[in-house]
Formats: sequence, C-alpha cells, structure tokens
Amino acid sequence: MSKEKNPVAIVTGASRGIGHAIAMRLAADGATVIACARDESKLIALAAASKEAGHAGSIEALALDVSDRAAIDRAVGTVIDRHARIDVLVNNAGITRDGLVMAMDDEQFDAVLTTNLKSVFWLTRAVSRHMLRARHGRIINISSISGVMGNAGQANYAASKAGVIGFSKSVAKELAKRGVTCNVVAPGFITTDMTEVLPAEVKETFLNLVPMKRFGGPDEIASVVAFLASDASSYMTGQVLVVDGGLHM
Ligand code: NAP
Repeated sequence: MSKEKNPVAIVTGASRGIGHAIAMRLAADGATVIACARDESKLIALAAASKEAGHAGSIEALALDVSDRAAIDRAVGTVIDRHARIDVLVNNAGITRDGLVMAMDDEQFDAVLTTNLKSVFWLTRAVSRHMLRARHGRIINISSISGVMGNAGQANYAASKAGVIGFSKSVAKELAKRGVTCNVVAPGFITTDMTEVLPAEVKETFLNLVPMKRFGGPDEIASVVAFLASDASSYMTGQVLVVDGGLHM
C-alpha cells in the first residue's frame, strides 16, 4: 500500500456504507485503521469483521462525532499517543438534509455544512501538522458528483461537497512541497443507507442517466481510495477522481 510498512489511517464515517468498505479495504492492504463514527457498536463489529477476515492490517474503533471540533482534536491526540503517527486521513463522514432552497431553514443548511465541510477542515488541520513533521501523508476527501454538477433539492449538500473540492485543491497546494498529497473522490450514485431512502422514481431517474446502467457499490469507491492512499498515486495531488459509472463526462 504505502512505503510505510504498517501505515496508520484514520477513516471517518466508517460505521456504514462507503466508509465501512474503505476501512475494510485499507486493513486488507495492511493498514492500521482507526475507524471513526458516532455508532461505536458498529465500529466494534467492523473491527471484529476485519480480524475474522484475516486482514494483514487491523481496525480500531474510535467513537467520534465529526461535528464536534474539540472531540476531533482529542481523537487526533489519542491516535498520536497510541501510534505516534498518522499516514492517511480519509474524510468520508457525511449527511444529507435535502429540501428546496426556498423551504430550507438555517439549521438544515448549517448541519450539512458542519458535518460535510467544516469537519474536513478541522480534521485536516489537526492531522496535517503531524504529516508535515513526518514529511509524508495522504489526505483523501470524499466529495460527490452533486458538488461538481449541482443537484435540485441538495443546495446545502452540493455547496458542502463543492467546498470540499476547493478546500482540497488549496490544501494540496499548501502541502505538496512537504510530501503530503490531498486528493478528492467524487462518487456518483452508490448503494448505501444514504441513497436507500430516496423515492423509487428518483432512483429510476438517476439510473437512466448513468451510462453503465447500474449504481455503484461501496467497494468501487474503496478501491479508488486505496489507490490514492498507496504509493501508486505518488505524483498526484489536488485531483478530483469522479467515480460515477460515466454519469458526468
Ligand atoms: P451513509 O451510509 O449514510 O454513512 C454515512 C457515514 O457517516 C456513517 O458511517 C455515519 O456514521 C457517518 N457520520 C454521519 N454523521 C457523522 C458525524 N457527525 N460524526 C461522525 N460520523 C458521522 O453514507 P455513504 O453513502 O456511505 O456516504 C459516505 C460519504 O460518501 C459521504 O460523505 C457522502 O456524502 C459521500 N457520497 C455518497 C454517495 C452515495 O451515493 N452513497 C454519493 C456521493 C458521495 P454514524 O451515523 O455512526 O455516526
């Protein structure tokens, strides 16, 4: 995976969906994964599943609400105390609170911006200090095709995900000289709890727009994240990899 023999990787939103698949994939590739989310019981089950699968690496559960800045700083401190370094940060935790702009209240807008964008700033700030000292690190932020194309009913979500792209390109420019890369993965429609709740007609509309005529699976995002976490992507930074079955091209 990385030139670090046993890289230490933080993955947020690892209790379900895409983050769960990323944590499993990085552990299979040999990383010590610090799996973060609010639901600790699911993280403990994830760690057990990794052990059961006989992964070369391992998964540790760390309960964390990414909308709590102080909790993020404590969590990063805990990881450094335990492992003395952080090689990979995957900012994956995210929420939707869909609605049309004219009916959207401030709380609905702020909640999405805080969980999806401000948390990325808080975690990147806390972790990049350690990566810069080590002159090595990989930051991988999960945006969305909504942040690239926009999406009716998701102005808050699209703003947060477009923000992640601009933020990541700026971070990439700031850190490139010192061995730390920052790239983005922008998934299209992936089958998880987040998309499960959408009405059947919305799913049908999306499906018709996808040239591959199917939705993606979490593992198909995890494999791209694994590439960005590995030495195979050593000359890439500030890039947005769209993984959407050809929806946007
Ligand atoms: P999901 O199945 O709903 O899972 C979301 C994850 O984020 C869960 O593990 C959840 O854990 C965690 N999370 C939410 N709020 C959190 C908070 N305040 N603190 C810590 N963890 C939090 O969603 P998903 O589909 O896997 O999405 C993962 C990422 O991919 C998100 O950033 C999403 O925007 C992005 N994405 C998804 C799709 C798609 O089609 N599914 C498309 C484009 C982009 P807890 O509830 O246990 O805290």
